[in-house]
Amino acid sequence: MHPGIHVLTSGGGQRFSFDPGSLSIELLSTGGPGDYRHWEILHRPADLADWLPRTRLAAAAPLAPADLRIRAADLERIRHLRDTLWAVAPALAHGRDVLPADLEVINGFVQEPPRLRVEAADLGRRWVVPITGAQVLGVFARDALDVIGTPALRERVRECAGDHCRLIFLDTSRPGNRRWCSMERCGNRNKVRTHRTRRAAVAAHTEGSR
Ligand SMILES: [Zn+2]
Repeated sequence: MHPGIHVLTSGGGQRFSFDPGSLSIELLSTGGPGDYRHWEILHRPADLADWLPRTRLAAAAPLAPADLRIRAADLERIRHLRDTLWAVAPALAHGRDVLPADLEVINGFVQEPPRLRVEAADLGRRWVVPITGAQVLGVFARDALDVIGTPALRERVRECAGDHCRLIFLDTSRPGNRRWCSMERCGNRNKVRTHRTRRAAVAAHTEGSR
């Protein structure tokens, strides 16, 4: 799977791939506050170290769990950032006001991100390792700041248009018309429903004209 695209499992057990579109929004697919606790995957620091190589960070340069040094307190802060984003991102998606207190949480977490270097042997990019939990927090908070603070990005934050689907993504499509978390899941369900409605309408029309 390409880094940054995650395989999720729906409540009904269907597996589908989901591109959140942005690093900070990827974090929302790891769980969250309230009802989202059910989907929590970041229980221990090692869980975060295992998950990060599947994110966009690994698209910038190779990344392995062993490259990360995450302490329990770091994980706690990263989950705090995530839970705050669960308040901010839906507000952006629906044009509601963002609470100043939530923005202060994000601002407070913006700090030194991981560093990249270029390798002499192959001119390839590498992370300067180990990457600390504080740097991980910094890169996620910085991405959140970019999304929220850039008008062209924040107006592209969307909630999936599927019924009962609350997945959030940044719409990076060129025309800006992405509606679904995933075509495999909500996109397809909608197609099937539209098809059924159309067939029912045709049937009703045929019935009526007899
Ligand atoms: Zn959806």
